[in-house]
Amino acid sequence: MANTDTQSILVVGSGMSGLTAAIEAAEAGYDVYIVEKNPYLGGRVAQLHHYFPKLCPPYCGLEINFRRIRQNPRVRFFTMAEVEKISGEEGDFDVTIRLNPRYVNEKCTGCGKCAEACTMEIENAFNYGMDKIKAAYLPHDMAYPMRYVLDPALIKSDEAQKVKEACPYDAIDLDMESRAVELKVGSVVWATGWKPYDANKLDTYGFGQYPDVITNVMMERLASWTGPTKGKIVRPSDGKAPETIAFVQCAGSRDENHLPYCSGICCLASMKQATYVREQYPDAKIYIFFIDIRATDRLEDFYNKVKEDENIRFFKGKVAKITEEDGKGLVLRVEDTMTEELHEISADLVVLATGMQPNTSESPLPIQVPYDDYGFMVSRNGKPGIYAAGCVRTPTFVSEVVQDGTAAALKAIQSVVRR
Ligand SMILES: Cc1cc2nc3c(=O)[nH]c(=O)nc-3n(C[C@H](O)[C@H](O)[C@H](O)COP(=O)(O)OP(=O)(O)OC[C@H]3O[C@@H](n4cnc5c(N)ncnc54)[C@H](O)[C@@H]3O)c2cc1C
Ligand code: SF4
Repeated sequence: MANTDTQSILVVGSGMSGLTAAIEAAEAGYDVYIVEKNPYLGGRVAQLHHYFPKLCPPYCGLEINFRRIRQNPRVRFFTMAEVEKISGEEGDFDVTIRLNPRYVNEKCTGCGKCAEACTMEIENAFNYGMDKIKAAYLPHDMAYPMRYVLDPALIKSDEAQKVKEACPYDAIDLDMESRAVELKVGSVVWATGWKPYDANKLDTYGFGQYPDVITNVMMERLASWTGPTKGKIVRPSDGKAPETIAFVQCAGSRDENHLPYCSGICCLASMKQATYVREQYPDAKIYIFFIDIRATDRLEDFYNKVKEDENIRFFKGKVAKITEEDGKGLVLRVEDTMTEELHEISADLVVLATGMQPNTSESPLPIQVPYDDYGFMVSRNGKPGIYAAGCVRTPTFVSEVVQDGTAAALKAIQSVVRR
């Protein structure tokens, strides 16, 4: 049974891979610390509308994990936290964690009185900036922990005191400061996941210039009942229902100038999102422009099912340019790779299927570990005692990151036991 500090395991990141690693290790009898940068647990999956292939809401799976955490005193977690320093060796690591201030303590009941009193608004990061929220906010409707956050801009403003006084539970602490916590752990699971490739870098697709060109992660929020339109898929420019929707596959992926690799997920994400559109608009025309469709194993059944829809056209061709033209809306210029004919196709809404980039490409670990050319962590011949899990290792689906999290938990336990 684990009972000393060096028999503890640190898990960095609380997406599906990190949550799985933490819970599996804790249920095997080891003390676990989770360090999460966001004010809530769950990672990017919390921002999805539905999961393919079954198309169930992600909160089913997340809630089961949160219940397992609530029931297991061996799991402790820090939100709004990052690892500042790691030193030492397998079986004996010293770790410094930086806790950023939430300005709200554990007395918060989630009553929302602070938000009612607050007039300042900030961009809603959870909805990828598609709407605004109060500067005293709950990160999202299903957030765990269900605790509000005060934005630093609010703390500096004249409104801060008024918002503090509105809290009936004395849960707001305007003097809360960033602080460091020192831990000793035996091994580390690094599961900091992915971020969407920045569509602003795709200069021929008009993202940021035309409001009706959005990305696949934004589409997840648009379809979600907790999203900026309460789940109604509409054009951001005018709130109208789109009649023709175009999905542009490999937007930046498999391209030497952007992401040279395939994320292996975007084709299925677009097919899933085509089903979101179909649910709301039985007559909408949908195009999926692709180079190759990547749908392997059992996921091919999902592809075949989506293909049965006569109003979904799978168009083999790479979109070269997107412009907005009077009377035509968004116009996509694309060469049909089968016939080599050039086409101009109009659409009301365009969804760029951007790929996944590892967060380690911009925020590497504070200790030397190997990465591949794209910034993904390499597990083979890595530093003993530090294990990668999930999309920080390779871009993939939830079912696979869950397996990866379980495998990383086993490796982390072996490191602790070996000592
Ligand atoms: C458009 C789209 C749709 C998708 N739909 C599906 C689907 O329907 N079904 C499916 O199976 N998969 C889907 N996926 C893939 C799915 O999102 C991933 O498999 C999943 O998010 C991977 O989980 P993860 O734990 O590896 O990473 P993440 O979900 O990215 O979690 C990583 C966590 O680490 C935290 N973190 C990051 N940096 C730090 C740091 N320095 N310190 C502390 N914490 C940090 C993050 O805040 C986050 O909470 C989709 C992907 C895309 C792009
Ligand atoms: S901080 Fe206070 S007012 Fe705001 S939600 Fe929490 S308990 Fe309610």
